[in-house]
Amino acid sequence: MQHYVVLSRKYRPKGLSDLIGQEVLAKSLRSCLETKKVPHAFLFHGIRGVGKTTTARILARCLCCIGSDGKTDITSSPCGVCRSCVAMDKDQHLDIMEFDAASRTGVDDIREVIEATQYAPVLGRYKIFIIDEVHMLSKSAFNALLKTLEEPPAHVKFIFATTEAQKVPETVLSRCMAFRLHPVSPDALAEHLINVAQKEGYTLEKDAANLISEESEGSVRDALSILEQALMLSAETKIVTLDSVLKMLGGATSDDVKVLLKLILDAKTKEALQKSEELFAKGTDPYVLFKNMQNVLYRIIVDKVNGKITNYSLSNLLYIWQIFLKQTENLRNASFPEYVLSAAVVILSHTASFPDIEQLMIRENPSEVPNNFSKIEQILGDKITPKPDTSNELVSNILSKFPGSTAHNVE
Ligand SMILES: [Zn+2]
Repeated sequence: MQHYVVLSRKYRPKGLSDLIGQEVLAKSLRSCLETKKVPHAFLFHGIRGVGKTTTARILARCLCCIGSDGKTDITSSPCGVCRSCVAMDKDQHLDIMEFDAASRTGVDDIREVIEATQYAPVLGRYKIFIIDEVHMLSKSAFNALLKTLEEPPAHVKFIFATTEAQKVPETVLSRCMAFRLHPVSPDALAEHLINVAQKEGYTLEKDAANLISEESEGSVRDALSILEQALMLSAETKIVTLDSVLKMLGGATSDDVKVLLKLILDAKTKEALQKSEELFAKGTDPYVLFKNMQNVLYRIIVDKVNGKITNYSLSNLLYIWQIFLKQTENLRNASFPEYVLSAAVVILSHTASFPDIEQLMIRENPSEVPNNFSKIEQILGDKITPKPDTSNELVSNILSKFPGSTAHNVE
């Protein structure tokens, strides 16, 4: 039986040109390698899953490749056949050491690394130390490392990776060439997913690719792991559709998401509640539903700021956004998601019925009240008079279904 290799490993980039959505970084590293101006230490930082460790390994490969003739200098395009490249492919390179600072934070752990820097490389020209999550090192470990970092042996290179560069001491940072890896753009990621699916013998529909890409928030690793599940579920048809991905992710269709959000923003509390109950009954995961609505709401706010839409007041949208974030968080670990969902929908649509804060301010400050206020009031009358309130009743109804579970949501 063939050994199964997960997609993220199978399609792990091997060269700078294979990096997804990191063109600027690839260009800088290439120029650094081609001009042979290689510093002693590199630092790659950025959110999880964007390819920091992958980039570190590619860089190590470039620095260690000796070419098919065994004499080539460092390169931006490793040969893939020399003993260094081959050892790297087998994860057996004796001169490239990976160290996880998250699990080995102490000064004794780092002393092992420092000691190892004293020995000459076996295969390539450098000994390379890749230290992942370097910000986790203890203060004394950093201090111990600093001495070596100040005057490293000529054959030693350090490549640090971290999700939290701000936690790396300035003394260490200043001795590194630092690169920020950006979250991969949704388009680039979707395209990559379509290519991988194709290589696996599947058709991944564009909409489905976009959804996976959005869901993984710029992390290639997360995206490939979602794709992997989707491929398994579509093994018979070999076609991955939007609906199959939605179903797999426990989400509602994108139409459902927009309809529910519009009901909320239009303060149609009863209808919104009904719609959310309907979606829950169909098996929609409330947390995923809220995450998806959050994406749409975000785009509405951006459109509002850019003057592309005229309805809804910006201050109300921003206020709703705040509550949205909190409710989404509440849903993440809710023990009784159905009730938390209902309460969240009611709270949000009730909030949407509040009068426009900017208009209220005009009313509170008579000096700012224009002469023709009564006319404005007439025009905006509908907006500045709170709508008849049915929400309190709905909230108590929900709370009575399960007393205590949602009380903190309606404070
Ligand atoms: Zn090579």
